[in-house]
Amino acid sequence: MWFEKSLDEIIKEFNTDIVNGLSSEEALARKNKYGPNKLAEKKKKSILKLLFEQINDVLIYILLAAAVISALLGEVSDAVIIMVVIVLNAIIGLVQESKAEKALESLKKLSFPKALVKRDGRIVEISSEDVVIGDIVVLEAGKYVPCDLRLIETANLKIEESALTGESVPSEKYAENVLKGEDIALGDQQNMAFMSTMVTYGRGTGVAVAASMDTEIGKIAKMLDNDEKNLTPLQVKLAQLGKILGFGVLVICVLMFIVAVIQKRDLFEMFLTAISLAVAAVPEGLPAMVTIVLAVGVQRMIKKNAIIRKLPAIETLGSVNIICSDKTGTLTQNKMTVTKFYADGTLDNISGLNMKNKVHFALVEYMILCSDATYSADSKTGDPTEIALLELGAKFDLYKKDEDRLHVRVNEIPFDSDRKLMTTLNRFDNKYNVITKGAVDNLIEICSSIYLNGGIVPFSEELKLKVMNASDSMSKDALRVLAAAFKKVDSIEIEIDSMEKNLTFVGLVGMIDPPRENVRDSIEECKKSGIRTVMITGDHKNTAFAIAKELGIAKDFSQVMLGYEFDKLPEKEAGNRIDNLRVFARVSPEHKVKIVKTLKKKGNIVSMTGDGVNDAPSLKTADIGVAMGITGTDVAKDASDMILTDDNFSTIVEAVKEGRNIYNNIRKSITFLLSCNIGEIIALFIGIVLGWPSVLRPIHLLWVNLITDSLPALALGVDPDDPDIMKEKPRDAREGLFSGKNGVFLIGNGILIGVLTLSAFYVGTRIYPNSVMHAQTMSFVVLSVSQLFYTLSMRHSEKSIFQIGIFTNRYLIGAIILGIVLQNVVITVPFLASVFKVFRLTLNDWMFVILLSIVPLVVNEIVKMLWKQNT
Ligand code: ATP
Repeated sequence: MWFEKSLDEIIKEFNTDIVNGLSSEEALARKNKYGPNKLAEKKKKSILKLLFEQINDVLIYILLAAAVISALLGEVSDAVIIMVVIVLNAIIGLVQESKAEKALESLKKLSFPKALVKRDGRIVEISSEDVVIGDIVVLEAGKYVPCDLRLIETANLKIEESALTGESVPSEKYAENVLKGEDIALGDQQNMAFMSTMVTYGRGTGVAVAASMDTEIGKIAKMLDNDEKNLTPLQVKLAQLGKILGFGVLVICVLMFIVAVIQKRDLFEMFLTAISLAVAAVPEGLPAMVTIVLAVGVQRMIKKNAIIRKLPAIETLGSVNIICSDKTGTLTQNKMTVTKFYADGTLDNISGLNMKNKVHFALVEYMILCSDATYSADSKTGDPTEIALLELGAKFDLYKKDEDRLHVRVNEIPFDSDRKLMTTLNRFDNKYNVITKGAVDNLIEICSSIYLNGGIVPFSEELKLKVMNASDSMSKDALRVLAAAFKKVDSIEIEIDSMEKNLTFVGLVGMIDPPRENVRDSIEECKKSGIRTVMITGDHKNTAFAIAKELGIAKDFSQVMLGYEFDKLPEKEAGNRIDNLRVFARVSPEHKVKIVKTLKKKGNIVSMTGDGVNDAPSLKTADIGVAMGITGTDVAKDASDMILTDDNFSTIVEAVKEGRNIYNNIRKSITFLLSCNIGEIIALFIGIVLGWPSVLRPIHLLWVNLITDSLPALALGVDPDDPDIMKEKPRDAREGLFSGKNGVFLIGNGILIGVLTLSAFYVGTRIYPNSVMHAQTMSFVVLSVSQLFYTLSMRHSEKSIFQIGIFTNRYLIGAIILGIVLQNVVITVPFLASVFKVFRLTLNDWMFVILLSIVPLVVNEIVKMLWKQNT
């Protein structure tokens, strides 16, 4: 049992080095020997099984039966065609599904957690998969434990182990507690950390003692069930719609069959027609089509630095009307540089710092000692705020490494965004200094004296006012202000609770953090498209407002409110005031939840950013929780719907754009498919009711279904982005798929296509009274070609085909050309023509059917024009 062994035994057993970690070569050798550190996944389904799933549908079974019956009755060509259609349909479905699956798979890889390990004497970040036994792993708040660890060092480390033990209250960990006894429960093994549990507080280091399936979680979860399907609301709605439509189509088919019986038609022919119509008109492929469009969209988003973790997020993104964003790092560059300071009664630029002045020296030294970042000429790691402090020290030849050696850290209370403070206990000769740094307003509360002229004097109200004035002056210049304080104590045994009390104030530093490029433009773009940007920051009110003003988020100071002030407001008043607020300052993570809830209650669709452990609740509450990819913790990422790989605000706006485009594309595709189906039903049903011979043969229907439902529908689904999408207002999330104009398009075009097909047939019977086959060929061509042309007009509900550019969707043009060529091949190649029972059309016939086929395109373009003129 690892927890029973002493550290020396562990180190010997794993042949590792606490100070330098493993060498890269050794780590690689161990990885090659033991394999990657991940839990086994469920076996993938075989191709045969996937293929079977495609065919496993009642309608397909009936169609199969129909093929067998056709063959028995000697209609071999019909049987063959039906079989070909079934196989092609299954292959298309299979390809679509496996493509979607692959895209989702690669997504999973992207969000695979990272781990911090010591390798070759340096701390490096690697994928958790690459951790090997013997690695020295560094843990910090917000990180997942990458494998089972025997802890070597802990500083207030707390780990939430519910994944393993079910216990959601975090357990405290102590490296030095060596336990004895066989049957100590996992939850009580305080010197161990286990894979898949989560660090909620503090820091620690440990030796990797078990990886992958040898870990405790690996022993329990022999197999990870990754089978959970995450259907988007749209997909769920579509699946329901599909069922309703399917039922409707079946009713029509039965009706058609009854009418045929009454009219004493050839019953077998009618049975085949009814089944083919059902197969053609039931949009069984819709959910798969939607998945693939979403998956392609997800890939496009990755290129724009946004990782979508949950598919429904894409749809929701399209209707976001409020973006709540962090300031530091998202709106700003998170490249901090200290430019001003206040100490010993003076506010000045950094050049005014004098290391011979004891207070000045203490300010810089304490800021360095109370930081976790590392800094040297060629490498900087850690929080940019702290890197700026270390950089300041380096300017005066004060280096973290030297300082740490001189004044060893013996205890600490880590920074958290609720307290907005961080404290360390460092050895100074034979005594100790408590050093605290953090937000000035919080720090001033716990200071009772101030360091002035080399001596410690009481912190009078007047002196406090001077400090606050200096802080105000810096923050109004958009500087982030950090204060430092200290106190001397005799013993290392000081209680944690009494550390941050009765401190002596030392001074302030102010650092600039310039806004990111492009953010101003993105905010302007949001404004134009009806999206409100709200800044939510832990920083000071003045700093926040100064930057918000510069970026065009807020105009007036009345639009700024402190997090706790808002939190105190009664619900109703919060609701009344929130519409005017653009900046929330000094916000703690729990205030964020109230902000999101209040905004949501007013009917807004809210996106909220977050990075820390405590941000998880607000990320989950928001419609779109956005986690930072660079600075974000694993916990925040896990709670989010989307991760920004560049932490950039503009990426959120790009994602919203993409979300809008994807939704539009899906809607276009569905409207297209359904209006074509309506057209087919109308043509057949009306034809039969009118007592005409069959307008189309069953295999014609199956064929049309094959060439229109597949490629053209998909090509519409991946239509290039509309550059003007952000000129529109956000889509109302409650709006149905076919509300308003869309519904009119859907039904109108369905009727039009149906009537045109009937017209082609009618004219055909007039020109060739003795050949039903000829007329059928004409309606067959009109039905398929009109659908193909009509896709061009479907690309935009307002812009004409010339405005969007006829050739801008190459896939669609390819799909149309291929469709027409195949249609032509079927009619002109004698063997196929005999199989499809079609007639070789004359030049005049072709001209006539092409003329009819472009009617939907022309009519739609005219309607768009008229619509535009009237609005
Ligand atoms: P956001 O990213 O949400 O815009 P933020 O990053 O500015 O906000 P926090 O990181 O919570 O918010 O910081 C809030 C305040 O805490 C800062 O204004 C600063 O005074 C203080 N602070 C930030 N980082 C540290 C740190 N490492 N140690 C001590 N205090 C810090």
